[in-house]
Amino acid sequence: MSTSALAINFAYVISAALFIFGLKMLSSPATARRGNMVSAIGMLLAVVVTLFAQGLDYKWILLGMVIGSAIGLVAAYKVEMTSMPEMVALFNGFGGVSSLLLAWGEYHENPDLSVFIAIVASLSAFIGGITFTGSMIAFGKLSEKIPSKAIIFSGQHIINAAILISAAVCTGLFAANPQNLYAVFVVIILISLVFGVTSVIPIGGADMPVVISLLNSYSGLAACAAGFVIGNNILIVAGALVGASGIILTRIMCKAMNRSLSNVLFSGFGAITQAAGDGPQGEIKPATAEDVYYILEAADSVAFVPGYGLAVAQAQHVTRELGDLLEENGTEVMYAIHPVAGRMPGHMNVLLAEANVPYDQLVEMDDINPRMDSVDVCVVIGANDVVNPAALEDESSSIYGMPIIETHRAKTVIVLKRSMNPGFAGIQNALFFAENARMYFGDAKASIQALIAEFKGSD
Ligand code: NDP
Repeated sequence: MSTSALAINFAYVISAALFIFGLKMLSSPATARRGNMVSAIGMLLAVVVTLFAQGLDYKWILLGMVIGSAIGLVAAYKVEMTSMPEMVALFNGFGGVSSLLLAWGEYHENPDLSVFIAIVASLSAFIGGITFTGSMIAFGKLSEKIPSKAIIFSGQHIINAAILISAAVCTGLFAANPQNLYAVFVVIILISLVFGVTSVIPIGGADMPVVISLLNSYSGLAACAAGFVIGNNILIVAGALVGASGIILTRIMCKAMNRSLSNVLFSGFGAITQAAGDGPQGEIKPATAEDVYYILEAADSVAFVPGYGLAVAQAQHVTRELGDLLEENGTEVMYAIHPVAGRMPGHMNVLLAEANVPYDQLVEMDDINPRMDSVDVCVVIGANDVVNPAALEDESSSIYGMPIIETHRAKTVIVLKRSMNPGFAGIQNALFFAENARMYFGDAKASIQALIAEFKGSD
């Protein structure tokens, strides 16, 4: 190996180490921000080294970088926190299509591929294509540009199986004779684009986060295969890391919903939504700011349970302020985090970290549930599905089996939301009618500000 090749590979090893350390640091909110930076530096090093090593035509690369950076910058500044999963879906899709184009471009330039490279080129194009159209459908569903519920069509499993078999047959044919089968490669690409649509369209409802995470993993696998096609070690490593971490996150999320991956992919969850008026009924007990103030003021322990509504209302800072006031009042304060609360993995952690909530006050679902009976007050802030007891009790419910934060077992539950409307899964919540529950209606931020005013007014 020449000295320059050694130097390049050495730089790649450093990049790979930075990726791995960065990923490790993402596992704690305390180090996550730095972890992101460490991985980004690793990527910058990899890009710079690759550009210098290859002797490429920089004119096109620079143009691409300027256009891409401008679009990325504007999009990242403009995106609402609650739309982050949609943005991740778009990123995954673009990652997938670039691997597809990379494999295609390489094959177009040099059709004389070995059997191995022909197979990885087909894989890169196939997985990249699925990732692209699958992510576009996921984006459309999350942004409600297309109906977000599962769209089931008859013979769906048979059609998908037939598509997969044809892709495997085409890959076999192509690998045996890549020089003369350009059209077959194009067919593989077309099949992948169709399969991305047919495999994601029947998935809906609360399963989209899992699909996004799975597509993220696919984008990594496509990049890894593309790395083999162009013989770039760091692309192989980075792709494998994304592929593996995406699969791990997918598993964690399935576990958090108590579902198997095959159930998520094939069951058509969310195809049937509850009709208005269905579900638990009963009498609710509305509460005013003053009522809630008296309950909180007398509590020894309070657990805040944030959900999507906290993100919508941007109530994280006022929640922290209320938590501080309660602590000054001698109350033990906790923030109970459900793994799929909000609209993206870690959504609540990000919001609470933004408001500087101390990490030692964050309690995971599995840690709070065993001690729930002794919690005086749970304050549910814009959460709904993640505290719905139907997940434990009602076998006919679409969220049956999903672990929840069992706020209904606390001595008192106060629910902050604007109306009796259901949450993401579209189902009513028996918690709101429970004996120990009080509904405190209004925008979460305004409601908490009113509580803060009550506390301050009482000084
Ligand atoms: P939900 O979507 O179940 O409920 C949110 C509640 O917030 C609604 O009932 C709504 O009621 C209330 N709300 C909305 N705006 C406000 C506001 N301004 N002030 C006060 N309340 C408000 O959220 P959860 O967090 O409980 O559950 C998350 C759901 O999303 C799960 O089903 C999960 O599977 C799914 N999901 C999760 C993702 C993730 O990765 N975390 C990604 C995508 C989906 P009202 O309108 O009456 O105010």
